[in-house]
Amino acid sequence: MKDLIIIGGGAAGITAGIYAARKYIDALLITSDFTGQIGKSSWVENYPGLKKITGLDLIKNFKEHLDMFPLEKKAFENIEKIEKTQGGFSVVTDEGAYETRALIIASGNIPRKLNVKNEDKFLGKGVSYCVTCDEAGYKGKTVAVTGGGNAGFEAAIELGRFCEKVYLLETADALAADMILQKEAEENNKIEIIVSVDILSFAGAETLEKVVFINKKTQETKELKIEGCFVEIGTCPNTDFVKGFLDLNEKGEIKVDPINFETSVPGCFAAGDVNNLPGKQIVIACGQGASALLSAYKYLNNNND
Ligand SMILES: Cc1cc2nc3c(=O)[nH]c(=O)nc-3n(C[C@H](O)[C@H](O)[C@H](O)COP(=O)(O)OP(=O)(O)OC[C@H]3O[C@@H](n4cnc5c(N)ncnc54)[C@H](O)[C@@H]3O)c2cc1C
Repeated sequence: MKDLIIIGGGAAGITAGIYAARKYIDALLITSDFTGQIGKSSWVENYPGLKKITGLDLIKNFKEHLDMFPLEKKAFENIEKIEKTQGGFSVVTDEGAYETRALIIASGNIPRKLNVKNEDKFLGKGVSYCVTCDEAGYKGKTVAVTGGGNAGFEAAIELGRFCEKVYLLETADALAADMILQKEAEENNKIEIIVSVDILSFAGAETLEKVVFINKKTQETKELKIEGCFVEIGTCPNTDFVKGFLDLNEKGEIKVDPINFETSVPGCFAAGDVNNLPGKQIVIACGQGASALLSAYKYLNNNND
């Protein structure tokens, strides 16, 4: 039986792994890849100490740092189920089952896509799923935000500070965001809200140049000239394997104690984008991975039987 299993090979899981190895914890890191969401970012410009780096180079650095330590790893295995056992937990993957006394889940999330034509083609070339990450490139430009919930409005208000024009596109006939956000957006004359929008495709030569949609009320096809489109229609946390085992919030994120990152089950911790805490960013995921490891270490030392 292992003392600790860490699930996830992204920012949070790798940081937890580095900390575990340096504390000589008998740990195993299991992940379906060592890419995570970092590997999907074109450029990262907000990770301290590395002014500008591609996502792929950053995750390569993370992995090389982890590989400096003799931590046991199982890559390319998918966790299918976690069960409570007498001495801890059983982690069932598509390759086998592993026993452990404590667990850190750092399985992240995936942004929900629009699933429209050319969405993938313009990823990193105009289409983005993260305003905080990519907004800096759009100063003085015309952009769109898709999603009329709180996240969409917050994104539009943020972009409205320095973009030339922001279209907020909502598929429903009504807006779901809090009234206070709606009012703030309406008061900014750079933000134009368009409802009943069915997005058909993105278009452009090398980079994004326009979004094509149908106005569902009039059935008219329309185009807007934009250089960026921020998709803000939610995320899907990778938590299928803990449903019914841990308490999740309405978005499916793992509920944790914000001080020690412990979940509803003692000895099981969750760090990074997979938990219910705000701020889905690399540096935050790393910080939480480190904190969760320190909590797990304390848990292991207090449960020595
Ligand atoms: C396009 C894009 C651009 C971004 N740009 C930036 C940026 O510029 N700056 C910034 O700070 N943040 C950025 N972010 C956000 C940032 O990447 C995330 O907040 C951070 O990487 C989350 O790390 P994580 O370790 O919590 O999760 P993830 O990176 O999602 O890692 C989860 C890991 O768990 C593994 N896993 C998942 N399910 C299973 C399973 N069932 N079994 C085994 N393994 C599993 C995955 O394979 C992966 O290795 C961006 C995100 C995206 C999508």
